[in-house]
Amino acid sequence: MDVRFPLLSIASLAFLLFFGLQGDVELYSWEVGISIAPDEVKVMVDPVWVVWIDTEYIYSFGCNAMVYGNVMVVDEEFCDYAFDDPRPNPLRYEYIHIKQFRALGWFLWPMKYIVNIEPPSGGSLADMWLPPDWWVDRWRFVAIIHDKPF
Ligand SMILES: [Zn+2]
Repeated sequence: MDVRFPLLSIASLAFLLFFGLQGDVELYSWEVGISIAPDEVKVMVDPVWVVWIDTEYIYSFGCNAMVYGNVMVVDEEFCDYAFDDPRPNPLRYEYIHIKQFRALGWFLWPMKYIVNIEPPSGGSLADMWLPPDWWVDRWRFVAIIHDKPF
């Protein structure tokens, strides 16, 4: 059995700890995947956290929400409105960054020069890059691999 907890996961946890000490941490979503092949069984676990944080404090970083790895740090005055609510929902926007992180891992940074990691000026959320269906994610938070199970 092999447990993979890559460097990006450790960096995300450090980011969660740093901001979590100054805000309210909430588990936003929790995804578990399993892949079974003759030579390998793999279980992947991807939690996503949101840290609600003081408005003045997050503004000192020059933004009202930010993402690193699987952690969203969001101005506590925002709300997680329902999906069809027309009011701007920063979580919906930041969650796209979460999916981009999972798809690209460290390649997120060079890829921002090639695809729209952020919406182009005047663009909308629909213009932000998302992985196609056939894409294999580059980064999973934790993967537990069991070789030759059968
Ligand atoms: Zn952004």
